[in-house]
Amino acid sequence: MKRATVDTIGFKALTQAELAEVITEELQQPSFRTKQILQWVYQKGAVSFDDMTNVPASLRDVLSKQYPLYTPKIIKKQVSLDGTRKYLIELVDGAHVETVGIPYKDHLSVCVSSQAGCSLRCAFCATGQAGYTRNLGCGEIVDQVMLVARDFEKRVSNVVFMGQGEPFLNYDASIEAARIINEPNCLGIGARHITISTSGILPQIRRFASEPQQFTLAISLHSAIQETRDEIMPGVKNYTLDRLRDSIISYANATGRRPTFEYLMINHVNDSNEHLKALVAFCRGTLCHVNLIPLNPTPKSRFTPSPLERIKDFEQYLTSVGIETTIRQSFGADIDAACGQLKQKYK
Ligand code: SAH
Ligand code: SF4
Repeated sequence: MKRATVDTIGFKALTQAELAEVITEELQQPSFRTKQILQWVYQKGAVSFDDMTNVPASLRDVLSKQYPLYTPKIIKKQVSLDGTRKYLIELVDGAHVETVGIPYKDHLSVCVSSQAGCSLRCAFCATGQAGYTRNLGCGEIVDQVMLVARDFEKRVSNVVFMGQGEPFLNYDASIEAARIINEPNCLGIGARHITISTSGILPQIRRFASEPQQFTLAISLHSAIQETRDEIMPGVKNYTLDRLRDSIISYANATGRRPTFEYLMINHVNDSNEHLKALVAFCRGTLCHVNLIPLNPTPKSRFTPSPLERIKDFEQYLTSVGIETTIRQSFGADIDAACGQLKQKYK
């Protein structure tokens, strides 16, 4: 999928390395300017080059013409009874994405979108049902984190790429966003507190294993039986479970990190004993952690969540055979802010 470019979204399309190149090669400026500008944008939240008082006016002038700085706008905000806030955000070209802020004790997690919409069309996911609009630029992903921090007036402790879109179909921008979020001169959030969730785009899992930062990987598994997975996740049919498992094992071996498997619990779809047995077999030897997620109902969907008893059965059995398992608490369900419920309702 095509990258969001400077032509359409300006400065927020640039990676840190590209900015460095612009500064030192294109504009023949000393390299410390790169760090200064990144700090202004991603640490101090500058919305205009005019804010950058320690950068020469001539340089600010050139940059603002060639790499205009746009900031997304919150056009709608909903607050859940549990404190979760969902934002509808408008980007420079009028594309919309949703972002969620989830306060929990003294933590604040932000769920970011990596694309406007998603092309993979998972049957249970409101984003997938609504279709694909465009890739976000790295800065447009980072902007979502800064926007939520500002709205809560609080430091963000965790970032999860679990909003709209498939981060591994917008790999470069997503990873660059994660790097900027991690970078001490920018947001400075620890790599282990940044989680990228993927439906399992295999070539990108391999690439991800060689990234030097210790970002956390989550894999949306949802079924360890091929036929069921093909039915509910038709967009990743070609990446079969066998190959997915191999890639995950290579990832775990290469990085020493433990991937999380996200497993949606859907009534009568993937919650039988046969599914449980297949899940256990899939997990063996992967060092994984399983996160069971009660399905969040989405409008017009034929799917319903498994009964809580059934989810607890899964948890107990997985735990009893030595697979670390948790049940995910759902936040913001009353405002459709929970996982998989995001789509741009605004027209
Ligand atoms: N495209 C990536 C990341 C965004 S989706 C992925 O699929 O992993 C983030 C998470 O929300 C995924 O685990 C996805 O399976 C889950 N999700 C989607 N629809 C859901 C629903 N209706 N209820 C609960 N979780 C859902
Ligand atoms: Fe896309 Fe993830 Fe939704 Fe599937 S679950 S349609 S991959 S956003």
